[in-house]
Amino acid sequence: MKKSEQETIASREFINSVEGCPACKRSFTMGEPIVLAFSPSWEGGKWVHADDARFDREHGEYRVKE
Ligand SMILES: [Zn+2]
Repeated sequence: MKKSEQETIASREFINSVEGCPACKRSFTMGEPIVLAFSPSWEGGKWVHADDARFDREHGEYRVKE
């Protein structure tokens, strides 16, 4: 998966489909940058605020910051 495919902005449809950010628990705002990130405590990737994750070049995916 390309890095660009793991980045987008929060749409109204997206915001209505989730309860909030799984990383920081805050809600999303329309137009905010979000990224598909991975965490050891999650099964699969989840969309989080771009600020909550950093890109791991070695694995080619975003990881939630500790
Ligand atoms: Zn967040």
